[in-house]
Amino acid sequence: MKIGFPRALFYFDYFPFWAGFFHRLNIEVVTSPATHRQIMEQGLKKASDETCLPLKLLAGHIQALKDVDAIFLPRMVSVEPDTYTCPKFLGIPESLFPAVPSGIPVLTVVLNWRKGKRQVLKDLQVFGRQLGKNKAEIRKAFTLGQEWQKRYQDSMGAGWDFEESIREIERAQKGLKDSASPPECGRGQGARTSTSAVSLKEQNTDRLRIALVGHSYLTQESYANLNLLGRLREKTEVQLVQHVSQEDVESHLLGLRKKLFWNHAKQIFGSGNKFVRDHEIDGIIYLSCFGCGTDSMVQELLAWKAREQHKPYMVVTLDEHSGEAGLVTRLEAFLDMVERRRVHEGYVSTYGERLDRDSNTL
Ligand code: SF4
Repeated sequence: MKIGFPRALFYFDYFPFWAGFFHRLNIEVVTSPATHRQIMEQGLKKASDETCLPLKLLAGHIQALKDVDAIFLPRMVSVEPDTYTCPKFLGIPESLFPAVPSGIPVLTVVLNWRKGKRQVLKDLQVFGRQLGKNKAEIRKAFTLGQEWQKRYQDSMGAGWDFEESIREIERAQKGLKDSASPPECGRGQGARTSTSAVSLKEQNTDRLRIALVGHSYLTQESYANLNLLGRLREKTEVQLVQHVSQEDVESHLLGLRKKLFWNHAKQIFGSGNKFVRDHEIDGIIYLSCFGCGTDSMVQELLAWKAREQHKPYMVVTLDEHSGEAGLVTRLEAFLDMVERRRVHEGYVSTYGERLDRDSNTL
């Protein structure tokens, strides 16, 4: 059996779990190609106008899945206790049925970690019956999926490169490694990026240090974000939300009057708040997307924190109409401003000092 897995949205955070799960069940997983213009255009035709860019991309990737027996679209309700994924995540797969090529069935399962591990396993076992697998087989697949996911998250937490970590998962899927052992994500020579948390301290580099915060499916999606991450890496050392440990995220949520309800909002705010307070970080770019409810709130909360700490902060909002020229101009202006602040240690003119203190967000 060949299952199609779109290279969008949940792919960027949870693909290792599903890859391990299906690998143990001897089910081949085929992913759609990296995003290109046609995928984006196809997605725009089939997704609702009001939805966010990542969902439109998902609609395009679903249509790009050819020659598969079924398309897998999990309903990821909650990925950890006490939080939910956003309402647009919850509407999958139904909201994307118009994008599914005719004749290809959709496989789905509810994943709700708020109900606990036992319930998640039970739901997977019910799903497993559709695949002709028994409870014991599903239990083993679940364990392997968790191992692959943990290894992947650990490697990202240590600052390893996303593409390299995913390539290891794909190599393991193809059976190049022992199926019982998790892939050695990001452990190979050269896999480490120059941006890891450890390397920032070790390198003692003169380059600017910029934190790029936002959803993984935007910051790592180089076609949709107009290669923002690549452009930043050419000139600066970059830190991402995925490089921040869970303990750091949790500790930087303290002080909020209410818990953040959505999982992505929590990760982004916790990491962003850590970057705001980190003296190693010279500036923060929030990559948000038009139509995202959680971004509209979190980007304001972070702007407020950045103002308190006098940290340069810029919001870049993406949609399908975003142009390269505008992005490059804003990026250059922001980096110039951050550089100037660093050289002058924050002391610009008297007039500028006032401006600097109260309105350092662009
Ligand atoms: S969190 Fe925002 S960007 Fe992500 S799926 Fe929901 S609305 Fe879209």
